[in-house]
Amino acid sequence: MPAYLKKAKETPAIAAATIDVAGIVKGVINSIRENGDAAVLQYSNQFDSWSRDSFKLSPEEIQEAIAQVPEQTIKDIKEVQQNVRTFAEAQRQSLKDFELEIQPGVFLGQKNLPINRVGAYIPGGRYPLLASAHMTILTAKVAGVPQVIACTPPIAGKIPNATVAAMHFAGADEIYVLGGVQAIAAMACGTETIKKVDFLAGPGNAFVAEGKRQLFGEVGIDLFAGPTEILVVADEHADPYTCAVDLISQAEHGPDTPAILVTNSRKVGEETLKFVDKVLEILPTAPVASVSWASFGEVIIAKDMDEAYQIADDIASEHVEILTDNPREALKKMTNYGALFLGENTCVSYGDKCIGTNHVLPTRKAAKYTGGLWVGKYLRTTTYQEVRNPQASGELGQLCGRASRAELFEGHARSGDLRAALHLKDKYDW
Ligand code: NAD
Repeated sequence: MPAYLKKAKETPAIAAATIDVAGIVKGVINSIRENGDAAVLQYSNQFDSWSRDSFKLSPEEIQEAIAQVPEQTIKDIKEVQQNVRTFAEAQRQSLKDFELEIQPGVFLGQKNLPINRVGAYIPGGRYPLLASAHMTILTAKVAGVPQVIACTPPIAGKIPNATVAAMHFAGADEIYVLGGVQAIAAMACGTETIKKVDFLAGPGNAFVAEGKRQLFGEVGIDLFAGPTEILVVADEHADPYTCAVDLISQAEHGPDTPAILVTNSRKVGEETLKFVDKVLEILPTAPVASVSWASFGEVIIAKDMDEAYQIADDIASEHVEILTDNPREALKKMTNYGALFLGENTCVSYGDKCIGTNHVLPTRKAAKYTGGLWVGKYLRTTTYQEVRNPQASGELGQLCGRASRAELFEGHARSGDLRAALHLKDKYDW
Protein backbone atom coordinates (compact mmCIF):
# COMPACT_ATOMS: atom_id res chain seq x y z
CA MET A 1 0.00 0.00 0.00
CA PRO A 2 1.46 3.40 -0.89
CA ALA A 3 1.82 6.01 1.86
CA TYR A 4 0.32 9.48 1.53
CA LEU A 5 2.36 12.48 2.67
CA LYS A 6 -0.66 14.54 1.60
CA LYS A 7 -4.06 13.16 0.61
CA ALA A 8 -6.82 14.94 -1.30
CA LYS A 9 -9.73 15.99 0.90
CA GLU A 10 -12.24 15.20 -1.83
CA THR A 11 -12.43 14.38 -5.51
CA PRO A 12 -13.55 17.07 -7.98
CA ALA A 13 -16.61 14.92 -8.78
CA ILE A 14 -17.74 15.06 -5.16
CA ALA A 15 -16.97 18.78 -4.96
CA ALA A 16 -18.96 19.47 -8.14
CA ALA A 17 -21.93 17.56 -6.67
CA THR A 18 -22.41 20.37 -4.14
CA ILE A 19 -23.62 22.60 -7.02
CA ASP A 20 -26.36 21.20 -9.24
CA VAL A 21 -24.28 21.62 -12.41
CA ALA A 22 -26.40 19.12 -14.35
CA GLY A 23 -29.65 20.88 -13.34
CA ILE A 24 -28.36 24.35 -14.24
CA VAL A 25 -27.07 23.09 -17.59
CA LYS A 26 -30.35 21.33 -18.41
CA GLY A 27 -32.30 24.52 -17.68
CA VAL A 28 -30.07 26.64 -19.93
CA ILE A 29 -30.22 24.13 -22.79
CA ASN A 30 -34.03 23.86 -22.63
CA SER A 31 -34.46 27.59 -22.53
CA ILE A 32 -32.14 28.13 -25.53
CA ARG A 33 -33.99 25.42 -27.45
CA GLU A 34 -37.27 27.27 -26.85
CA ASN A 35 -36.22 30.90 -27.06
CA GLY A 36 -33.08 30.93 -29.24
CA ASP A 37 -31.05 34.14 -29.37
CA ALA A 38 -33.15 35.90 -26.72
CA ALA A 39 -32.27 33.22 -24.14
CA VAL A 40 -28.61 33.16 -25.26
CA LEU A 41 -28.33 36.91 -24.73
CA GLN A 42 -30.10 36.75 -21.39
CA TYR A 43 -27.68 34.09 -20.04
CA SER A 44 -24.67 35.86 -21.50
CA ASN A 45 -25.73 38.95 -19.64
CA GLN A 46 -26.48 37.04 -16.43
CA PHE A 47 -23.27 34.94 -16.32
CA ASP A 48 -20.79 37.11 -18.23
CA SER A 49 -22.10 40.71 -18.07
CA TRP A 50 -22.43 40.89 -21.87
CA SER A 51 -24.74 43.84 -22.47
CA ARG A 52 -24.72 44.13 -26.28
CA ASP A 53 -27.63 42.94 -28.39
CA SER A 54 -25.51 40.60 -30.54
CA PHE A 55 -22.79 38.08 -29.80
CA LYS A 56 -21.56 37.66 -33.38
CA LEU A 57 -18.42 39.60 -34.32
CA SER A 58 -18.43 41.28 -37.73
CA PRO A 59 -15.25 41.21 -39.88
CA GLU A 60 -14.66 44.87 -38.90
CA GLU A 61 -14.96 44.08 -35.16
CA ILE A 62 -12.52 41.19 -35.59
CA GLN A 63 -9.99 43.51 -37.24
CA GLU A 64 -10.52 46.14 -34.52
CA ALA A 65 -9.90 43.48 -31.84
CA ILE A 66 -6.70 42.31 -33.58
CA ALA A 67 -5.46 45.89 -33.79
CA GLN A 68 -5.56 46.11 -29.97
CA VAL A 69 -3.21 43.13 -29.51
CA PRO A 70 0.53 43.80 -28.98
CA GLU A 71 2.69 42.94 -31.99
CA GLN A 72 4.78 40.42 -30.03
CA THR A 73 1.64 38.57 -28.96
CA ILE A 74 0.53 38.32 -32.60
CA LYS A 75 3.97 36.98 -33.57
CA ASP A 76 3.84 34.44 -30.75
CA ILE A 77 0.34 33.32 -31.74
CA LYS A 78 1.59 32.70 -35.26
CA GLU A 79 4.71 30.85 -34.07
CA VAL A 80 2.73 28.56 -31.78
CA GLN A 81 0.14 27.97 -34.49
CA GLN A 82 2.92 26.89 -36.85
CA ASN A 83 4.03 24.25 -34.29
CA VAL A 84 0.45 23.02 -33.87
CA ARG A 85 -0.09 22.98 -37.64
CA THR A 86 3.12 21.02 -38.32
CA PHE A 87 2.23 18.30 -35.81
CA ALA A 88 -1.42 18.16 -36.92
CA GLU A 89 -0.40 17.88 -40.59
CA ALA A 90 1.87 14.94 -39.73
CA GLN A 91 -1.08 13.32 -37.94
CA ARG A 92 -3.29 13.90 -40.99
CA GLN A 93 -0.72 12.23 -43.21
CA SER A 94 -0.68 9.20 -40.91
CA LEU A 95 -4.34 8.59 -41.75
CA LYS A 96 -4.55 6.87 -45.09
CA ASP A 97 -7.44 6.29 -47.44
CA PHE A 98 -7.02 2.90 -49.09
CA GLU A 99 -8.70 0.37 -51.33
CA LEU A 100 -8.14 -3.37 -51.02
CA GLU A 101 -9.00 -6.07 -53.56
CA ILE A 102 -9.98 -8.62 -50.93
CA GLN A 103 -10.61 -11.30 -53.60
CA PRO A 104 -10.52 -10.98 -57.39
CA GLY A 105 -12.98 -8.31 -58.42
CA VAL A 106 -14.12 -7.46 -54.85
CA PHE A 107 -13.00 -4.03 -53.71
CA LEU A 108 -13.23 -2.66 -50.15
CA GLY A 109 -12.24 0.94 -49.45
CA GLN A 110 -11.70 3.33 -46.59
CA LYS A 111 -12.14 7.08 -46.89
CA ASN A 112 -11.55 9.70 -44.18
CA LEU A 113 -14.09 12.49 -44.60
CA PRO A 114 -13.95 15.73 -42.63
CA ILE A 115 -17.04 16.70 -40.62
CA ASN A 116 -18.88 19.50 -42.43
CA ARG A 117 -19.59 21.98 -39.63
CA VAL A 118 -17.75 22.14 -36.31
CA GLY A 119 -18.31 24.32 -33.25
CA ALA A 120 -15.13 25.04 -31.30
CA TYR A 121 -15.26 26.23 -27.70
CA ILE A 122 -12.36 28.36 -26.47
CA PRO A 123 -12.51 28.72 -22.68
CA GLY A 124 -12.04 32.12 -21.16
CA GLY A 125 -13.92 32.51 -17.90
CA ARG A 126 -10.86 32.86 -15.72
CA TYR A 127 -8.05 33.35 -18.27
CA PRO A 128 -8.03 34.13 -22.00
CA LEU A 129 -7.05 30.67 -23.26
CA LEU A 130 -5.61 31.68 -26.62
CA ALA A 131 -3.94 28.31 -27.04
CA SER A 132 -7.28 26.51 -27.09
CA ALA A 133 -8.04 28.38 -30.32
CA HIS A 134 -4.98 26.84 -31.98
CA MET A 135 -5.82 23.40 -30.62
CA THR A 136 -9.47 23.28 -31.66
CA ILE A 137 -9.90 25.55 -34.71
CA LEU A 138 -6.57 25.06 -36.44
CA THR A 139 -6.64 21.29 -35.98
CA ALA A 140 -10.14 21.17 -37.51
CA LYS A 141 -8.90 23.21 -40.46
CA VAL A 142 -5.93 20.87 -40.99
CA ALA A 143 -8.45 18.01 -41.00
CA GLY A 144 -10.23 19.81 -43.85
CA VAL A 145 -13.41 20.91 -42.01
CA PRO A 146 -14.99 23.51 -44.33
CA GLN A 147 -16.91 25.45 -41.67
CA VAL A 148 -15.47 26.00 -38.21
CA ILE A 149 -17.39 28.37 -35.97
CA ALA A 150 -15.95 29.36 -32.61
CA CYS A 151 -17.18 30.76 -29.30
CA THR A 152 -15.26 32.28 -26.41
CA PRO A 153 -16.68 34.12 -23.39
CA PRO A 154 -16.33 37.85 -22.87
CA ILE A 155 -13.88 38.99 -20.22
CA ALA A 156 -15.65 41.27 -17.75
CA GLY A 157 -18.29 41.98 -20.38
CA LYS A 158 -15.72 42.94 -23.03
CA ILE A 159 -14.35 41.33 -26.22
CA PRO A 160 -11.23 39.25 -25.40
CA ASN A 161 -9.02 40.77 -28.12
CA ALA A 162 -6.05 38.39 -28.02
CA THR A 163 -8.28 35.30 -28.04
CA VAL A 164 -10.22 36.70 -30.98
CA ALA A 165 -6.91 37.25 -32.80
CA ALA A 166 -5.89 33.64 -32.12
CA MET A 167 -9.31 32.40 -33.31
CA HIS A 168 -9.05 34.44 -36.50
CA PHE A 169 -5.50 33.36 -37.35
CA ALA A 170 -6.42 29.75 -36.59
CA GLY A 171 -8.99 30.02 -39.39
CA ALA A 172 -12.37 30.42 -37.64
CA ASP A 173 -15.10 31.10 -40.19
CA GLU A 174 -17.45 32.75 -37.66
CA ILE A 175 -16.52 34.18 -34.25
CA TYR A 176 -18.97 34.61 -31.39
CA VAL A 177 -18.29 36.22 -28.02
CA LEU A 178 -20.21 33.72 -25.98
CA GLY A 179 -19.26 31.45 -23.11
CA GLY A 180 -20.38 28.53 -20.98
CA VAL A 181 -23.43 26.37 -21.65
CA GLN A 182 -25.11 29.16 -23.58
CA ALA A 183 -22.34 28.84 -26.21
CA ILE A 184 -22.42 25.05 -26.21
CA ALA A 185 -26.24 24.92 -26.50
CA ALA A 186 -26.42 27.66 -29.14
CA MET A 187 -23.90 25.83 -31.35
CA ALA A 188 -25.48 22.39 -30.81
CA CYS A 189 -29.15 23.38 -31.13
CA GLY A 190 -28.84 26.36 -33.47
CA THR A 191 -30.47 29.78 -33.01
CA GLU A 192 -31.54 32.61 -35.32
CA THR A 193 -27.89 33.77 -35.43
CA ILE A 194 -25.96 30.48 -35.23
CA LYS A 195 -26.56 27.65 -37.67
CA LYS A 196 -26.49 24.28 -35.88
CA VAL A 197 -23.16 22.43 -35.94
CA ASP A 198 -22.55 18.71 -36.41
CA PHE A 199 -19.80 18.41 -33.81
CA LEU A 200 -18.55 20.25 -30.72
CA ALA A 201 -14.90 20.43 -29.71
CA GLY A 202 -12.92 22.13 -27.01
CA PRO A 203 -12.24 22.14 -23.30
CA GLY A 204 -14.01 24.04 -20.56
CA ASN A 205 -15.14 24.13 -16.97
CA ALA A 206 -17.66 21.80 -15.33
CA PHE A 207 -20.62 23.62 -16.97
CA VAL A 208 -19.12 23.38 -20.44
CA ALA A 209 -18.18 19.71 -20.00
CA GLU A 210 -21.67 18.88 -18.67
CA GLY A 211 -23.28 20.79 -21.56
CA LYS A 212 -21.35 18.67 -24.06
CA ARG A 213 -22.31 15.51 -22.15
CA GLN A 214 -26.01 16.35 -22.23
CA LEU A 215 -25.98 17.28 -25.92
CA PHE A 216 -23.94 14.29 -27.06
CA GLY A 217 -25.96 12.30 -29.58
CA GLU A 218 -27.69 15.37 -30.94
CA VAL A 219 -24.20 16.46 -31.98
CA GLY A 220 -20.88 14.66 -31.84
CA ILE A 221 -18.31 15.69 -29.27
CA ASP A 222 -14.54 15.37 -29.15
CA LEU A 223 -14.13 14.08 -25.58
CA PHE A 224 -14.75 15.00 -21.96
CA ALA A 225 -12.05 17.63 -21.54
CA GLY A 226 -13.07 19.09 -18.21
CA PRO A 227 -11.13 20.76 -15.40
CA THR A 228 -7.46 20.04 -15.91
CA GLU A 229 -5.19 17.62 -14.00
CA ILE A 230 -1.48 17.04 -13.51
CA LEU A 231 0.44 14.08 -12.17
CA VAL A 232 4.21 14.11 -11.70
CA VAL A 233 6.13 10.82 -11.46
CA ALA A 234 9.47 11.53 -9.78
CA ASP A 235 12.35 9.35 -8.64
CA GLU A 236 15.09 10.16 -6.12
CA HIS A 237 17.00 12.17 -8.78
CA ALA A 238 14.16 14.63 -9.34
CA ASP A 239 14.50 18.25 -8.29
CA PRO A 240 11.77 18.93 -5.67
CA TYR A 241 11.59 22.62 -6.59
CA THR A 242 10.80 21.67 -10.22
CA CYS A 243 8.20 19.18 -8.95
CA ALA A 244 6.56 21.92 -6.86
CA VAL A 245 6.60 24.59 -9.58
CA ASP A 246 5.12 22.23 -12.18
CA LEU A 247 2.40 20.90 -9.85
CA ILE A 248 1.29 24.40 -8.96
CA SER A 249 1.59 25.65 -12.54
CA GLN A 250 -1.40 23.48 -13.40
CA ALA A 251 -3.29 24.09 -10.15
CA GLU A 252 -3.68 27.76 -11.10
CA HIS A 253 -6.14 26.79 -13.88
CA GLY A 254 -9.08 26.65 -11.48
CA PRO A 255 -10.07 25.67 -7.96
CA ASP A 256 -10.81 22.09 -9.02
CA THR A 257 -7.45 20.89 -10.36
CA PRO A 258 -6.00 17.62 -9.02
CA ALA A 259 -2.20 17.99 -8.76
CA ILE A 260 -0.51 14.77 -7.70
CA LEU A 261 3.09 13.75 -7.05
CA VAL A 262 3.94 10.04 -7.06
CA THR A 263 7.50 9.28 -6.02
CA ASN A 264 9.61 6.45 -4.66
CA SER A 265 11.53 8.98 -2.55
CA ARG A 266 10.13 10.24 0.76
CA LYS A 267 12.80 12.97 0.70
CA VAL A 268 11.63 14.26 -2.70
CA GLY A 269 8.03 14.13 -1.46
CA GLU A 270 8.74 16.05 1.75
CA GLU A 271 10.85 18.71 0.03
CA THR A 272 8.27 19.15 -2.72
CA LEU A 273 5.62 19.82 -0.06
CA LYS A 274 7.81 22.56 1.46
CA PHE A 275 8.51 24.13 -1.94
CA VAL A 276 4.81 24.12 -2.84
CA ASP A 277 4.16 26.34 0.20
CA LYS A 278 6.97 28.68 -0.88
CA VAL A 279 5.70 28.87 -4.48
CA LEU A 280 2.19 29.61 -3.25
CA GLU A 281 3.55 32.51 -1.15
CA ILE A 282 4.75 34.37 -4.23
CA LEU A 283 2.48 33.30 -7.08
CA PRO A 284 -0.09 35.96 -8.09
CA THR A 285 -2.54 33.18 -8.97
CA ALA A 286 -2.14 31.54 -5.54
CA PRO A 287 -5.71 32.39 -4.49
CA VAL A 288 -6.90 29.85 -7.08
CA ALA A 289 -3.97 27.43 -7.02
CA SER A 290 -3.97 27.12 -3.22
CA VAL A 291 -7.67 26.15 -3.19
CA SER A 292 -6.94 23.34 -5.65
CA TRP A 293 -3.83 22.26 -3.79
CA ALA A 294 -5.58 22.25 -0.41
CA SER A 295 -8.51 20.17 -1.67
CA PHE A 296 -7.12 18.01 -4.43
CA GLY A 297 -3.31 18.05 -4.05
CA GLU A 298 -1.65 14.73 -3.21
CA VAL A 299 1.85 13.44 -2.49
CA ILE A 300 2.06 9.65 -2.70
CA ILE A 301 5.10 7.60 -1.70
CA ALA A 302 5.46 4.34 -3.65
CA LYS A 303 7.69 1.49 -2.50
CA ASP A 304 9.58 1.54 -5.82
CA MET A 305 9.29 2.98 -9.33
CA ASP A 306 7.26 0.04 -10.62
CA GLU A 307 4.62 0.79 -8.02
CA ALA A 308 4.87 4.51 -8.83
CA TYR A 309 4.07 3.81 -12.49
CA GLN A 310 1.21 1.48 -11.49
CA ILE A 311 -0.35 4.14 -9.27
CA ALA A 312 0.05 6.76 -11.99
CA ASP A 313 -1.48 4.43 -14.58
CA ASP A 314 -4.48 3.77 -12.38
CA ILE A 315 -5.07 7.50 -11.80
CA ALA A 316 -4.98 7.99 -15.61
CA SER A 317 -4.27 11.71 -15.34
CA GLU A 318 -4.71 14.17 -18.18
CA HIS A 319 -1.07 15.30 -18.01
CA VAL A 320 1.75 13.10 -16.73
CA GLU A 321 5.19 14.59 -16.25
CA ILE A 322 8.10 12.16 -15.79
CA LEU A 323 10.97 13.58 -13.72
CA THR A 324 13.24 10.57 -13.43
CA ASP A 325 16.67 9.43 -14.48
CA ASN A 326 15.24 7.41 -17.36
CA PRO A 327 12.08 9.24 -18.46
CA ARG A 328 11.54 7.22 -21.66
CA GLU A 329 10.90 4.18 -19.44
CA ALA A 330 7.41 5.63 -18.92
CA LEU A 331 6.56 4.94 -22.58
CA LYS A 332 6.82 1.22 -21.73
CA LYS A 333 5.53 1.27 -18.17
CA MET A 334 2.43 3.42 -18.64
CA THR A 335 -0.65 3.13 -20.83
CA ASN A 336 -3.20 5.54 -19.28
CA TYR A 337 -2.51 9.25 -19.79
CA GLY A 338 -3.70 12.13 -21.95
CA ALA A 339 -0.17 13.33 -22.71
CA LEU A 340 3.27 12.38 -21.38
CA PHE A 341 6.02 14.92 -20.74
CA LEU A 342 9.36 13.14 -20.64
CA GLY A 343 12.20 14.57 -18.56
CA GLU A 344 12.94 17.85 -16.86
CA ASN A 345 13.63 19.72 -20.11
CA THR A 346 9.96 19.71 -20.97
CA CYS A 347 6.89 20.44 -18.88
CA VAL A 348 3.10 20.44 -19.03
CA SER A 349 3.13 24.18 -19.67
CA TYR A 350 4.97 23.59 -22.99
CA GLY A 351 2.15 21.27 -24.03
CA ASP A 352 -0.49 23.71 -22.81
CA LYS A 353 0.92 26.77 -24.53
CA CYS A 354 3.41 26.24 -27.32
CA ILE A 355 5.19 22.99 -28.16
CA GLY A 356 2.70 21.84 -30.81
CA THR A 357 0.93 18.75 -29.42
CA ASN A 358 -2.77 19.24 -28.72
CA HIS A 359 -3.67 20.44 -25.23
CA VAL A 360 -7.30 19.35 -25.30
CA LEU A 361 -6.97 16.15 -23.32
CA PRO A 362 -9.11 13.62 -21.42
CA THR A 363 -9.84 14.23 -17.73
CA ARG A 364 -11.46 12.25 -14.90
CA LYS A 365 -9.93 8.93 -16.01
CA ALA A 366 -11.25 9.30 -19.57
CA ALA A 367 -7.64 8.62 -20.62
CA LYS A 368 -8.49 4.96 -19.97
CA TYR A 369 -10.60 4.94 -23.14
CA THR A 370 -9.59 7.90 -25.30
CA GLY A 371 -6.68 10.03 -26.35
CA GLY A 372 -6.94 13.79 -26.67
CA LEU A 373 -8.16 16.01 -29.48
CA TRP A 374 -6.40 15.45 -32.82
CA VAL A 375 -7.05 15.65 -36.52
CA GLY A 376 -8.69 12.21 -36.49
CA LYS A 377 -11.50 13.41 -34.20
CA TYR A 378 -12.65 15.74 -36.97
CA LEU A 379 -12.72 12.97 -39.56
CA ARG A 380 -15.25 10.24 -40.19
CA THR A 381 -13.55 7.06 -41.28
CA THR A 382 -16.04 5.69 -43.78
CA THR A 383 -15.99 2.59 -45.95
CA TYR A 384 -17.27 1.62 -49.39
CA GLN A 385 -17.38 -1.56 -51.42
CA GLU A 386 -17.82 -2.62 -55.01
CA VAL A 387 -18.02 -6.09 -56.59
CA ARG A 388 -16.97 -5.95 -60.22
CA ASN A 389 -16.74 -9.70 -60.76
CA PRO A 390 -20.16 -11.38 -61.37
CA GLN A 391 -18.91 -14.79 -60.24
CA ALA A 392 -17.70 -13.26 -56.94
CA SER A 393 -21.01 -11.46 -56.51
CA GLY A 394 -22.88 -14.74 -56.93
CA GLU A 395 -20.66 -16.55 -54.43
CA LEU A 396 -21.04 -13.72 -51.93
CA GLY A 397 -24.79 -13.95 -52.53
CA GLN A 398 -24.76 -17.62 -51.52
CA LEU A 399 -22.65 -16.84 -48.43
CA CYS A 400 -24.92 -13.92 -47.56
CA GLY A 401 -28.00 -16.14 -47.90
CA ARG A 402 -26.61 -18.76 -45.49
CA ALA A 403 -25.19 -16.19 -43.03
CA SER A 404 -28.47 -14.25 -42.97
CA ARG A 405 -30.65 -17.32 -42.47
CA ALA A 406 -28.42 -18.38 -39.54
CA GLU A 407 -29.58 -15.12 -37.97
CA LEU A 408 -33.19 -15.60 -39.17
CA PHE A 409 -32.93 -12.55 -41.48
CA GLU A 410 -34.96 -13.72 -44.49
CA GLY A 411 -35.00 -10.28 -46.14
CA HIS A 412 -31.23 -10.01 -46.06
CA ALA A 413 -30.92 -13.57 -47.34
CA ARG A 414 -33.04 -12.75 -50.39
CA SER A 415 -30.77 -9.83 -51.36
CA GLY A 416 -28.00 -12.44 -51.53
CA ASP A 417 -30.20 -15.05 -53.27
CA LEU A 418 -31.08 -12.52 -55.96
CA ARG A 419 -27.43 -12.05 -56.90
CA ALA A 420 -26.67 -15.74 -56.68
CA ALA A 421 -29.56 -16.37 -59.07
CA LEU A 422 -28.41 -13.63 -61.42
CA HIS A 423 -24.78 -14.66 -61.64
CA LEU A 424 -24.71 -18.38 -60.78
CA LYS A 425 -28.16 -19.28 -62.10
CA ASP A 426 -29.26 -20.39 -58.61
CA LYS A 427 -32.96 -20.97 -58.27
CA TYR A 428 -34.72 -17.82 -57.02
CA ASP A 429 -38.29 -18.11 -55.93
CA TRP A 430 -39.99 -14.98 -54.57
P1 NAD B 1 -14.89 28.49 -19.36
O1 NAD B 1 -14.89 29.30 -20.60
O2 NAD B 1 -14.82 27.01 -19.47
O3 NAD B 1 -16.23 28.80 -18.56
C1 NAD B 1 -16.64 30.09 -18.36
C2 NAD B 1 -18.14 30.13 -18.47
O4 NAD B 1 -18.75 29.37 -17.44
C3 NAD B 1 -18.68 31.53 -18.32
O5 NAD B 1 -18.73 32.10 -19.60
C4 NAD B 1 -20.05 31.31 -17.74
O6 NAD B 1 -20.99 31.43 -18.75
C5 NAD B 1 -20.04 29.89 -17.24
N1 NAD B 1 -20.34 29.84 -15.81
C6 NAD B 1 -19.53 30.17 -14.79
N2 NAD B 1 -20.19 30.03 -13.62
C7 NAD B 1 -21.45 29.62 -13.92
C8 NAD B 1 -22.61 29.28 -13.15
N3 NAD B 1 -22.60 29.33 -11.83
N4 NAD B 1 -23.70 28.87 -13.81
C9 NAD B 1 -23.73 28.77 -15.14
N5 NAD B 1 -22.65 29.09 -15.93
C10 NAD B 1 -21.53 29.49 -15.31
O7 NAD B 1 -13.71 29.11 -18.47
P2 NAD B 1 -13.15 28.73 -17.04
O8 NAD B 1 -14.22 28.77 -16.02
O9 NAD B 1 -11.97 29.60 -16.85
O10 NAD B 1 -12.69 27.24 -17.16
C11 NAD B 1 -11.77 26.78 -18.11
C12 NAD B 1 -11.59 25.33 -17.80
O11 NAD B 1 -11.01 24.66 -18.91
C13 NAD B 1 -10.71 25.06 -16.60
O12 NAD B 1 -11.39 24.17 -15.74
C14 NAD B 1 -9.50 24.38 -17.21
O13 NAD B 1 -8.90 23.46 -16.37
C15 NAD B 1 -10.15 23.69 -18.39
N6 NAD B 1 -9.24 23.26 -19.43
C16 NAD B 1 -9.22 21.94 -19.73
C17 NAD B 1 -8.42 21.48 -20.73
C18 NAD B 1 -8.46 20.02 -21.09
O14 NAD B 1 -7.95 19.67 -22.16
N7 NAD B 1 -9.01 19.16 -20.29
C19 NAD B 1 -7.62 22.37 -21.47
C20 NAD B 1 -7.67 23.71 -21.15
C21 NAD B 1 -8.48 24.17 -20.13
